[in-house]
Formats: sequence, C-alpha cells, structure tokens
Amino acid sequence: MKFFLLSLIAISVSLTAFAEVITSFDPHGKKEIALTFDACETKTPSYFDPVILEYLTIHKIPATFFVSAKFALRNPEILSEIIQKYPFLEIENHSYHHYAHMEDLNASMVHDEIKSTEDIIYKTTGTKTKYFRFPAGNYDEPTLETVESMGYKVVHWSFASGDPDKHVTAEKMIPWVTNKAKSGDILIFHINGRGYATPQALPKIVETLQKKGYTFVRLDKVL
Ligand SMILES: [Zn+2]
Repeated sequence: MKFFLLSLIAISVSLTAFAEVITSFDPHGKKEIALTFDACETKTPSYFDPVILEYLTIHKIPATFFVSAKFALRNPEILSEIIQKYPFLEIENHSYHHYAHMEDLNASMVHDEIKSTEDIIYKTTGTKTKYFRFPAGNYDEPTLETVESMGYKVVHWSFASGDPDKHVTAEKMIPWVTNKAKSGDILIFHINGRGYATPQALPKIVETLQKKGYTFVRLDKVL
C-alpha cells in the first residue's frame, strides 16, 4: 500500500514536471532569436503571404512555420516546395481545425487534431512534426498533457508582435519588437495574410536585430 501511494505521488510529480509550454530557449551565451510564423486557416481560405515568404527565402532567414492542416491542404505545392528548396525553413504542427479553445475538446479529439495534421504534413513534405502550438495560445493542463503524451513539445512565444491586430502598424511594430527582443526569445508573426503589417515591418525588424548582432535559428536547432 505504501509503495502504491509512493508510485502515485511519483507519477503525479512527473506529470506536473513534464507539462510545460516553451516560450524561450537557452541561447548558450549566443545572440540568437527564433522567428516563428503561424499559418492558420479557420473559416476563410488562407494562403501564404508572398511578400513574407519571398523575403525569408531570398535572404535565407531561418524560421519555423506552425501550419494548420486546413492550411496545408489548401497550399500543398508551396508547402512541399518550401521543404525541398529551403532547408532553413521548418514546418511544425498547429492543429487541424484551428479551434480557438482546444481545452473544450476531449482527449481523443485533441489527439486527432494533432495526429491528422502530422499525417497531412508528412504526406505533403515528408517531414514529421514534433512541436505544437495551440491555436490562439489557449490550453489547460489536461490538454497540454495529452499533447505531450504524443511526444510533442508545446512551443508558444516570448511576447506577441501583435500582428493579427489591424491597428498594429509597421511603425508601431518595428520599435516594439526590436527594442524588446533578446537572446533566446521566440518571436511570433503570421504568414497567412493575417499579419497585417508584417510584410512591411519584417525586413526592418530583421535588419535591426542583425545590426544588434543577432542571428536567427530554427526551433529544432535550439530546443
Ligand atoms: Zn493560429
């Protein structure tokens, strides 16, 4: 009985220790920042923002894209091209339907959201996703544990760029991001047309941070 109780305690402790949302990484003394871009689709058809994609690919800026399955199914050719032609870009998992409150789903639905997306991205690009980002950043402890039990690490962001807000202009976003960003930060933007000022702001953000000595890294290089 005593052993049984101790085991229970050990299990609950290990579960608590395991459940974690990553919002930064250890830069090991280097000036490194991770750029991430969400490619979500909910009700309206969504596509890659061509200006952002072109900027990243021409300048070979490492970045991680969190892609929802509906978005992947709508943009399969370009997704496959990204993986084949641009090894500095990484595709990760952002759920199937992009439900804004995955904590309202039961465990098996949460599992399906992630597994079906993993399968679709694998079929499209040949790569297996290992990081997950909750739509709208919403989750609770049981949802988080379900995701982590599938071998995923949940990766959110250090601070929001604010780019899904139409009132956030490039003039506001550039100083906000470049003054606040520091080594080990994970920055979040949108590449699905909902990062309203991002096409205009991104080049200036990247150049300013590069002038401060920062380089950019894919999440799988640092997590
Ligand atoms: Zn999203």
